[in-house]
Amino acid sequence: MSHENEHKAAAGAVIIPVTLFQQNCMLLWDETTRQAVVIDPGGDVPLIRDAIAKANVNVEAIWLTHGHIDHVGGAAELRDALKVEIIGPHIDDRFLFDLVEESGAKYGMAGVRNFTPDRWLNEGDRVSVGGLNFDILHCPGHSPGSVVYYNKAMKFAHVGDVLFAGSVGRTDFPGCSHEQLIQSITTKLLPLGDDVGFICGHGPGSSIGQERMTNPFLTGQA
Ligand SMILES: [Zn+2]
Ligand SMILES: [Zn+2]
Repeated sequence: MSHENEHKAAAGAVIIPVTLFQQNCMLLWDETTRQAVVIDPGGDVPLIRDAIAKANVNVEAIWLTHGHIDHVGGAAELRDALKVEIIGPHIDDRFLFDLVEESGAKYGMAGVRNFTPDRWLNEGDRVSVGGLNFDILHCPGHSPGSVVYYNKAMKFAHVGDVLFAGSVGRTDFPGCSHEQLIQSITTKLLPLGDDVGFICGHGPGSSIGQERMTNPFLTGQA
């Protein structure tokens, strides 16, 4: 997805694995305007700020896929440092933002704070950075308020912890539902098309087609 130069905005991106959960924090930008967003700054804020400096981009917002600690632990600190808004996830994850400190203590993450995003997202909303436009898909199951950011022009999605290469999100936390998760994947992600590539919250990315054909949770073999 890097350096595509057609009749559409070109995107640049780097993945910064953060926290003991090796969560894929993503710095994403428009190559023309250098406007950028940070998706899921779970922690290790100095590493994220280094990546921003190295990419020489101007971060305008923080986007969140869902409210779990490994995705939001560094968001309040980064918001204060960059003076930007935190956008997403869906309001059904609101309860998780009151548990950030508690979860951080459980996993030995220092300096994390409870906070409230500046704006919640709904199914059908659209968010943009420079000329890159992302449609919001509300995909509950892994958490009630999980959202997916989908860029139709780039055939690219950031799916958070909804879907992984060869697996799906955990559903053993409060508010999770495996049945609902599979429903979200089959009714909202699979219809995006086999040629849509995705980045997820942990591990390597994949494509919708690859997962439709081989993911044991979707082929009925799990
Ligand atoms: Zn999660
Ligand atoms: Zn995660």
